[in-house]
Amino acid sequence: MLEASGLMVFYENMLALNNVAVKCDDHQIVGVFGANSAGKSTLMYTLSGIMEDIRKKEAMAGGERITIMGEIRFMGKSIMGLKPSLRAKQGIVLCPERRRIFSESNVLENLRIGGYLATTSQARKTMEYVFQIFPALLKLKKRTGGFLSGGEQQMLAIGRALMAQPKLLLLDEPLLGLSPLMQAILIRGTKVIRDERNISIIVTEQYARPVLPIVDYAFILENGAAVMEGTRGDLLSNPDIRSAYFGV
Ligand code: ATP
Repeated sequence: MLEASGLMVFYENMLALNNVAVKCDDHQIVGVFGANSAGKSTLMYTLSGIMEDIRKKEAMAGGERITIMGEIRFMGKSIMGLKPSLRAKQGIVLCPERRRIFSESNVLENLRIGGYLATTSQARKTMEYVFQIFPALLKLKKRTGGFLSGGEQQMLAIGRALMAQPKLLLLDEPLLGLSPLMQAILIRGTKVIRDERNISIIVTEQYARPVLPIVDYAFILENGAAVMEGTRGDLLSNPDIRSAYFGV
């Protein structure tokens, strides 16, 4: 499905991604775990193409010089250099960190905006599906985004990403700051989306423990480098990884 190799991202002289290779196969949930500043968001921006936009904007404004190198292949074709909107059309959809929903718009409006790439009938069916996996949103249809709780906003952010008809969903720290109960609802929803919609998922988190049960394969990022990868069992059998990312 997606294979990235040799990814390097510099913010001026600061190396944020150092020769990173990640892979997500069809029907997989892949975890990317790393501490604050490890490079998780930079990786998600690079895969979704948003990094390319940020680079161009900075260059036009005469600001920070950003360099992006490496190769990303999606469904057999190189997508390196492709704009984020074209990657989204091909099925790579990012649900960004800090759940950037439209806070002035209500739940329905947020979902409709997310469905701009979908046909009317796809949008209608997907919206029904979003309410089926996250029934809490149904009662909040008319609620303004900014007045939702953090967990509700995250459900909406995932729902909005689903409206764009992803084949590969990129979830950047979806559990950040949420209660264990809300985390469990979102993790269950994530697994259901993969199982029922056959959407592959790459999910980043600082702590691996809550998401590990649904992850097929994972990468550990440290200071911009992928220092380890493996199955759930591989990670759990490494004592350093266990204490740093699982708290056990
Ligand atoms: P967090 O969990 O805090 O979101 P992260 O793993 O997502 O962290 P990134 O946001 O990718 O990490 O940041 C990686 C490194 O790049 C950090 O040291 C960060 O300060 C730096 N960085 C990110 N964006 C920029 C930028 N626009 N200009 C300069 N440095 C940046």
